Amino acid sequence: MQHRLSSAPSEIKRAYDVVVVGSGYGGGVAASRLSRTGQRVCVIERGKEFPTGSFPSRLPELRRELQLNGGKMRSGSRAGLFDFRLGADIHVLVGCGLGGGSLINAGVALRPDARVFADPVWPEELAADGLLELGFKRAASMLRPTRYPNAPELTKYRALEAASQAFGVPPVAAPVVVSFEDIINPAGVAQPACTLCGDCCSGCNVGAKNTVAVTYLPDAKAHGAEIFTELSVSHIAKEASGWRIHFAASNDKDGSPSFVDASTVVLAAGTLGSTEILLRSRERGLSLSDRLGEGFSANGDIIAFALGGSERVNGVGVGHPPKFVGDAIGACVTGQIELPDGRDLDRSMILQEGVLPSALAPLLPVFFISGGRLLGAAQSLIKGVYQGPLSHLHTFFVVSHDDAEGCIRLDNGSAHVHWPGVADQPVYARVDAALTKAAAAVGARYIKSPLAATNMGTKPATAHPLGGCGMGQNAGTGVVNHKCQVFDGQSRDSVHLGLYVCDGSAIPCSIGVNPLLTITALTERAMVHLARDHNLGFDDVPRVRQEADQALI
Ligand SMILES: Cc1cc2nc3c(=O)[nH]c(=O)nc-3n(C[C@H](O)[C@H](O)[C@H](O)COP(=O)(O)OP(=O)(O)OC[C@H]3O[C@@H](n4cnc5c(N)ncnc54)[C@H](O)[C@@H]3O)c2cc1C
Ligand code: SF4
Repeated sequence: MQHRLSSAPSEIKRAYDVVVVGSGYGGGVAASRLSRTGQRVCVIERGKEFPTGSFPSRLPELRRELQLNGGKMRSGSRAGLFDFRLGADIHVLVGCGLGGGSLINAGVALRPDARVFADPVWPEELAADGLLELGFKRAASMLRPTRYPNAPELTKYRALEAASQAFGVPPVAAPVVVSFEDIINPAGVAQPACTLCGDCCSGCNVGAKNTVAVTYLPDAKAHGAEIFTELSVSHIAKEASGWRIHFAASNDKDGSPSFVDASTVVLAAGTLGSTEILLRSRERGLSLSDRLGEGFSANGDIIAFALGGSERVNGVGVGHPPKFVGDAIGACVTGQIELPDGRDLDRSMILQEGVLPSALAPLLPVFFISGGRLLGAAQSLIKGVYQGPLSHLHTFFVVSHDDAEGCIRLDNGSAHVHWPGVADQPVYARVDAALTKAAAAVGARYIKSPLAATNMGTKPATAHPLGGCGMGQNAGTGVVNHKCQVFDGQSRDSVHLGLYVCDGSAIPCSIGVNPLLTITALTERAMVHLARDHNLGFDDVPRVRQEADQALI
């Protein structure tokens, strides 16, 4: 039985040493590490807590967890798990809930090519002190990326192998933050083994995915952090004694706004969330770098499909408990084709095979018929997606590079991305060409966008938004420095004492790999610096070991 991590909003105190806003990778690391220093830590998250077993598994439940925000147009609960920001140029999907994007992501955990950090866009101190390496090490110890040992036996992996003939490069098993055996994890939480149900992107109802909600956040709670959900931070303000964090109930438009004070604030509300909070704070007078909102990257992230090949793929999840009993599906991503370009980093790409969540199954025939691409889809409606033509549906995730020239602005008070001409970024043409070849290798048709007839249209979409509060050498080039401290815009190097941004927004360029491990590592590094700068100390000894040590005493 999983214990709830969050407390009732009425229990929030007036003041803490540290307030962490948001609870994804950046927020989870900050909450865990700072509560281990003995600081009184409060975490404020706008979404709900989802105990294991409560993630949407049927279409009506999934619909209830959908929030669509297109500037003037808005629908769904403000605490809905899937937060789609529909933009004029590009759409963005982010997670909303205790654990952030980790609740609905595929869990692929990769380190970027070394050339990424050699780019002068990063502050020079980042590579100099060796702490980034420590950050990656700590991130891996807590999140435990693992390659599924039997990946080559899965039908969808074999389908990827067939597609890989287009490139003459065989696939490899992808490292994912999933427990493939029963364990007590480093936060002391019991996790059962993955059932290979494929539903990672609608939330793991088994408890096998190593989300922030079963790793860093329970660790934070065990070290005294107080966690509050369904509260949205609007802005922060500098007071004589520190910071005032203004918030209100996420879903209560008329609810009276409240505030909490802290000497340290860690904004970890994600690329859109942290940028949004700082943009609103700047409107109220907080001095910040002019780079705020600039440098948005979609990380060359693409989801696309191929259909009509002769072999089965098994790329639709069955959920837990399973809705269909047949061959194992596998975790959302188990295999990838790595296509590095030794001469031009920007041309490097990684193709991953993916699984669509079972809750989407009833919609799939509709989407693929409306595109007019699948004559046999009616058969799938009858037989279900597990036996008909849709069992031959390939889902591809691709990650690569763009020029990070997007811009986040406030429209009607919420963050939206403006990036005229983004669809002409060379990455999209390169990926189209690669996926057309991959589809042809399995005798299938490449389907770029089955959602053309919906609100999404044919615009690019990303689940890897980065930037907006990018790191830089000084306030002229960045919003935060290498320690994730926020420049105050008064001089090139001066920072606001006690204000940090630790999440995807601090990444100043595309990184060419799925970003969770890098966000976690950069935050681990920032926490080491924060502790040193404030004469605080913490260890990263896993709770399981701590408890075992205590038992020995
Ligand atoms: C479908 C999908 C699949 C993905 N697959 C992968 C993958 O396989 N590998 C990978 O590396 N990455 C993947 N990603 C991306 C990855 O999950 C994100 O990059 C990552 O979660 C970002 O971490 P973060 O700490 O920056 O913020 P987030 O995880 O986005 O967390 C930010 C949190 O802040 C909260 N918040 C926002 N605004 C406020 C506010 N005003 N007040 C209070 N709280 C607020 C949000 O609700 C959220 O919980 C995927 C994403 C999606 C959506
Ligand atoms: S495949 Fe199923 S059990 Fe395994 S991590 Fe994903 S959602 Fe959880």
